[in-house]
Amino acid sequence: MKHQSNEQNFKDPVCGMEVSRTTAIEEFVYQGKPYYFCSGGCREAFEAEPDKYLRHHRQHGIKQK
Ligand SMILES: [Zn+2]
Repeated sequence: MKHQSNEQNFKDPVCGMEVSRTTAIEEFVYQGKPYYFCSGGCREAFEAEPDKYLRHHRQHGIKQK
């Protein structure tokens, strides 16, 4: 019997959806780390402002800018 390689899940940093390497539609490498996305739209949003999505999600209210 063969071991199936463990499917690792990633979180789409934009919408919070769980994606795996096989279900992710888009991949984007930022600062040496790969991020996976459920759609091209999410990737584009991340690409435009990665820091916004990598920061802690919950800040109250949206007071940026
Ligand atoms: Zn997404």
